[in-house]
Amino acid sequence: MAIEFFQTVMGQKFYGVDVPSITKSLELIAKHMGVLAQRIEREEEARQRYEKERQHEMEKFGVDEGKNDEQQEKQAAGGCPKCGAKVERHGNTLVCPNCGTEPFEKQERQP
Ligand SMILES: [Zn+2]
Repeated sequence: MAIEFFQTVMGQKFYGVDVPSITKSLELIAKHMGVLAQRIEREEEARQRYEKERQHEMEKFGVDEGKNDEQQEKQAAGGCPKCGAKVERHGNTLVCPNCGTEPFEKQERQP
């Protein structure tokens, strides 16, 4: 009658030492994966929150920029408040050819 694998020294080591060790390792891996999955979930939630906030900020900023644009358009049309010269627009700043940005900087500080 042939000896079964579990009856051999190798078999006894396999079932007595290797299998419990592998089981323990698998449990550890599963635990780590669970922790990782939770972390990924939390990071995804944080990312979505950040994305929402950013969208909100961008919408707010977009509206404010529109208002500023309108204000600046009116200011530019009225000419320089100091010398009355025709005002140039450089992006978001108004510039008088005689006074520079100075007369507009004061107005910009007061909302
Ligand atoms: Zn001026």
